[in-house]
Amino acid sequence: MTKLVARLILAMLILPVSGAVFVFLVFVIFPMGGPPALSQILALWLIEYSIIAAYWILLWRSTVRWNRGRIVGTLLVTLAALLVGMVGATTVFEMALAPIPIVALIGGALVPIIWVLGTVLVWKESAQERFERLNSYGTDAVCCPICGYNMTGLKEARCPECGNTFTVDELFTAQSERQQELEQS
Ligand SMILES: [Zn+2]
Repeated sequence: MTKLVARLILAMLILPVSGAVFVFLVFVIFPMGGPPALSQILALWLIEYSIIAAYWILLWRSTVRWNRGRIVGTLLVTLAALLVGMVGATTVFEMALAPIPIVALIGGALVPIIWVLGTVLVWKESAQERFERLNSYGTDAVCCPICGYNMTGLKEARCPECGNTFTVDELFTAQSERQQELEQS
């Protein structure tokens, strides 16, 4: 299994993992019988968010090009996610007149969804960055046509990063296309 495939599988596992953490926390934090208090809901979300954020950041940290824009972007996404959660909670409260703890439970569920989707957008490598990365390998480098991994020196035409296999023709075509791109810039 390649590193990229392992990461994608772990990325999809964030759903069942956060679900399992949620169920576990409900049993630990909530009292037997009786409605939950607002403080318990907030504690539940605080722990749940911390675990989701730690999982997601540890998973992608080494692949993200951290610059000022991405760090600020990540903070803005965090604020936006919290804001959406609050707006969602307020809407549920006004429309259904549900009790405050229930409202906090529903609104709180929106936060990690928005945050994860937002980080995907903010952390993604831009076309310019991909170009610069490929450029930094020099024109002699053979790169994977799919993910751009530097395949120079490998004994087989299989990319160790994304797992795709290529014919020599395909690598050759991609190589000359990239050289043209570099020359034009
Ligand atoms: Zn690849």
